[in-house]
Amino acid sequence: MEISEIQVDGYEKVARCRDQASGLHALIAVHDTTLGPSLGGMRMLPYVSEDEALFDVLRLAKGMTYKSSVGETGLGGGKSVILGEPSKVKSRALFEAMGVFVDSLGGKYITAEDMNIGIPDLEIVRTKTRWVTGLSRESGSSGNPSPYTARGCFLGVQAVAEEVWGSKDVRGKHVLIQGVGAVGGRLAVLLAEAGAKVTICDINEARVKELAAKHGFAVIADDKHLDVACDIYSPCARGATLNDQTIPRLKCRAVAGAANNQLLDRRHGDEIKKRGIVYAPDYVINAGGIINVGVELLPGGYREEESLRRIERIPHNLKKVFEIAKRDGISTQDAADRLAIERIQAAKSAKSPAKAR
Ligand code: NAD
Repeated sequence: MEISEIQVDGYEKVARCRDQASGLHALIAVHDTTLGPSLGGMRMLPYVSEDEALFDVLRLAKGMTYKSSVGETGLGGGKSVILGEPSKVKSRALFEAMGVFVDSLGGKYITAEDMNIGIPDLEIVRTKTRWVTGLSRESGSSGNPSPYTARGCFLGVQAVAEEVWGSKDVRGKHVLIQGVGAVGGRLAVLLAEAGAKVTICDINEARVKELAAKHGFAVIADDKHLDVACDIYSPCARGATLNDQTIPRLKCRAVAGAANNQLLDRRHGDEIKKRGIVYAPDYVINAGGIINVGVELLPGGYREEESLRRIERIPHNLKKVFEIAKRDGISTQDAADRLAIERIQAAKSAKSPAKAR
């Protein structure tokens, strides 16, 4: 196994692993550990080149720094990627080698699930390193993050309601949810329980039917959902759904959902702002999952009460983001990044008072 370093400005450490025996070709990026050890998922994709994988891992690691900073998880940002087609390269030897690679960073990078990586894969990684999170509750880990992400999103929708209508009460508010999987489905139930009128859509028709029959949600076909006028639109399916084609069609006062990377491009944050629509930046409102994972790393280990207590901070963080956006006349997405950077700078200054003077 050969582990080598790649120098990248602005990143604390970027490492490459090539292991002939198992076929592992992977990268780990540690962006910033000012606020704590870096945590971020492990993903596997058939990248066409190492450069493409590097671009992805750098972008994702930096995103994790910002997400953890605003989410007050006590963690920094990192990410790992394995190059390869999952159906072809996955093997026990490959994940054991990945475990050795993760371990070589000595806890500076802590891993978790991400695209094409499941719990069984991480359990193999765990045989070679303790720096793995998000395994089963039975094993002392924090388990499935989705209910916690949904809880955080629900509190975030309330914060958005307060920002738009002056009250966090969602009774009678019409919320349109795209994607009712693990997070969106649970969010729909929480909102309906709080008295919101919920309309759902999903490409999985069986799932829509099941939820509508059980909870009485209104249903709209996915390809027509942007024709629906609503109070809050909640994208909970996939990324890049807020773009030049969709934004002019939005018929809502606010966008608040769980999906990662909702804006196709940064400028789409400004486009939404121009229309007077309040946007809850995705990584602020969907931080419940990572907050839950972070609790696993506290002294004494995972405690659900502590996780729920910390998730209650999401509305506070969203309010801060809205304040900064108004104060500086910028989009809420830019305001979230500004808050993340401000918190990291404050921690750096506290650690090194000479720089603070
Ligand atoms: P999931 O796979 O359980 O659910 C996604 C749902 O979206 C599925 O029901 C799927 O059929 C539907 N969908 C996919 N493409 C669609 C499309 N084009 N139109 C309509 N529906 C579509 O995933 P999840 O865990 O609920 O996560 C949802 C989103 O939230 C993802 O973007 C994910 O990255 C993000 N997120 C999830 C968590 C978590 O804890 N699970 C944490 C942070 C962010």
